Amino acid sequence: MSKLRFNALYEMFRRAPIEVEIPDRLSRLYNQNVFSDDTMKEYLTKDAYRYIEAAKVKGEKIPREIADQIAAAMKDWSLSKGVTHYTHWFQPLTGATAEKHDAFFDRIGDDRAIEKFNGSMLVQQEPDASSFPNGGIRNTFEARGYTAWDPTSAAFIIDTTLCIPSVFISYTGDTLDYKTPLLRALQAVDDAATEVARYFDRNVNKVYSTLGWEQEYFLVDSAMFNTRPDLQLTGRTILGHSPAKGQQLGDHYFGSIPLRVIRFMQELEVEAMKLGIPVKTRHNEAAPNQFECAPIYEEANQAVDHNSLLMDLMNRVAEKHNFKVLLHEKPFDGVNGSGKHNNWSLQTDTGENLLSPGKNPKQNLQFLTFFINTIKAVSEYPDILRSAIASAGNDYRLGGHEAPPAIISVFIGTQLTAVIDELEKVKKGKLSPDEKTELKLNLIGKIPEILLDNTDRNRTSPFAFTGNKFEFRAVGSSANCAEPVMVINTIVAAQLKLFKNGVDGLIEKGLKKDEAILNILRDYIKSFRNILFEGDGYSKKWEEEAKERKLNNYRTTPEALKVELEPKYMDLFINNSVFSRLEIESRNEMKLNKYSTLIEIEGKVLADLARNHIIPTAILYQNDLIKNVEGLKSIFSDKEFKTLAREQIDLIKNISGKIGRIKVAVDKLLNEIDKSNKIKSGQKKAEAYAFQVKPYFDIIRNDVDELEMLVDDEVWPLTKYREFLFME
Ligand code: ADP
Ligand code: MG
Repeated sequence: MSKLRFNALYEMFRRAPIEVEIPDRLSRLYNQNVFSDDTMKEYLTKDAYRYIEAAKVKGEKIPREIADQIAAAMKDWSLSKGVTHYTHWFQPLTGATAEKHDAFFDRIGDDRAIEKFNGSMLVQQEPDASSFPNGGIRNTFEARGYTAWDPTSAAFIIDTTLCIPSVFISYTGDTLDYKTPLLRALQAVDDAATEVARYFDRNVNKVYSTLGWEQEYFLVDSAMFNTRPDLQLTGRTILGHSPAKGQQLGDHYFGSIPLRVIRFMQELEVEAMKLGIPVKTRHNEAAPNQFECAPIYEEANQAVDHNSLLMDLMNRVAEKHNFKVLLHEKPFDGVNGSGKHNNWSLQTDTGENLLSPGKNPKQNLQFLTFFINTIKAVSEYPDILRSAIASAGNDYRLGGHEAPPAIISVFIGTQLTAVIDELEKVKKGKLSPDEKTELKLNLIGKIPEILLDNTDRNRTSPFAFTGNKFEFRAVGSSANCAEPVMVINTIVAAQLKLFKNGVDGLIEKGLKKDEAILNILRDYIKSFRNILFEGDGYSKKWEEEAKERKLNNYRTTPEALKVELEPKYMDLFINNSVFSRLEIESRNEMKLNKYSTLIEIEGKVLADLARNHIIPTAILYQNDLIKNVEGLKSIFSDKEFKTLAREQIDLIKNISGKIGRIKVAVDKLLNEIDKSNKIKSGQKKAEAYAFQVKPYFDIIRNDVDELEMLVDDEVWPLTKYREFLFME
């Protein structure tokens, strides 16, 4: 084993688990560092608190005097916790969270100082944001960005800094972040769903979207991580002979969680609790070194912030435990990748889950209404769901027979399929009293029972109904959930508006409300059959069937992103006030750019590793072999030499063939990168990266990974998969 690898392994095996202080009850820590509802009630006047409530519930503006009061309360609370700085915490399109810290400290006069924090500092902050990606917006308007407080998500303390969840927008009002469009989509779905929910309950005044995410990730030892430039620079191993290509992983890889990891998880949970992230489940995942963390679901905006916060937190806690967290969708070839399931539903301000069947036929009709409208929304706009999860990393995972394919379909299970089959048979127009009773008793009245034994949940579907929520499973592990959740809520909002218009139209024509609803639902069922799929989503057969059904299968990010500019999707976002045309165009450009840049980095890292690490190592080893063969030749007779040296000579030929091929492919790869970079159009450039540059990754990797098997382990420079994925 090479010295570098040996030292890293040695370091890893010497490590002891880091002890973590855990209180007797985790619940005591909950919200400890959050300006939570309870804390607000303690620190704010009743009046000020009511304004925050109104901002949360009705989106009302907070007047400046009140903002001053809230700021003063936040400052008092923060100072009591040893806080010295504040920051507007936001989620720019780079994917990471961003913050710029300002001290509360301020000078008054020459030699006196105070802690100062007022309403205008709370409401607005100007980060020096000229380097955040923003597509064409800033170019177009030469606008600068500013951040503004989002009172619907709770402020929190990290270390000695008060973090204020914020949106990030340009002075022209265009969005430069993930949160703003999410908030707009949540408004759209609230407006549309409240109207529909009121068909069933006049007491409903607001509908919230809920989100429960499940975060998958890998942990590797930090010393091992540091031996791999590809992991450091791209988040994934670009090279490495994978277990799937021959070496089987033993059972011990799938055993219980190592103690070091348990300690990491415990500390992560402690810290998450303090920040109000209600983490609940932890477990081993399918792959070695892969784990999952999931909280109890929350209101979607808060849940999105909590996911971003958790991803940050993971890195910080991991550092202390000498781990690196890999959030990349596919860090290891041949080993299952990581996703982030987004469990989504709608909930009323009266506390009802609109995707949960109820206790009586009325509630069940409400359930069917929202259930069927959601499926209808997906069937009308499937491609935008695909583009919402498109990223360079997720391309390596989707459709790899381990994750849902890039084809969007909906799974609902056999029982609900039977329900919609029956519902589809309902007569058009008016129903007789007998028909109504029959429906209520035998179909709509029976749904809760049916769902109780609905256990066959299809794990190979990208969008599955799982009892009382839909689960969007194709989301990548490193994604900001804001994007998929924004899209789901927008398409459902658009769909619910159409539904409301349809139902009201039929009521005007003289149908009873229930009849009108059933009529429309029945038509929807007829129209969305092709999006429903209950079979094995990972199979080749499904790809063929989907093609016949005219469902798109966009395998790459550039193909998936292209649909964002189709008039149908542009209109969807514009009509629901989620994006302006300019915002769509610039965000699309930004995403394409991000894709091209990531593939470029991967290509360059690969070229560098191949040229400076792999080829020299292979040549050194080849020289050893040659010396050995020459030695044999000097000792033995020609005849003896021929038999004795044959295998080594073959090996030399084999290695030198691979060295030659790698060199040629690397030259071509770099040439294609140069050519791609000259392309002006963001779309064409990304396509060039996907179809001209990326194919060389596999070509080069194949030869390098075979060399890994041929070259003496003693000299191989890169930490091997089995070393990475074996942790005690
Ligand atoms: P799994 O998918 O791993 O079997 P569960 O089905 O138990 O797990 O739950 C998955 C996630 O669904 C949990 O994180 C939970 O918080 C979330 N969830 C449950 N109900 C809702 C809801 N109404 N809205 C959003 N998420 C929900
Ligand atoms: Mg799940």
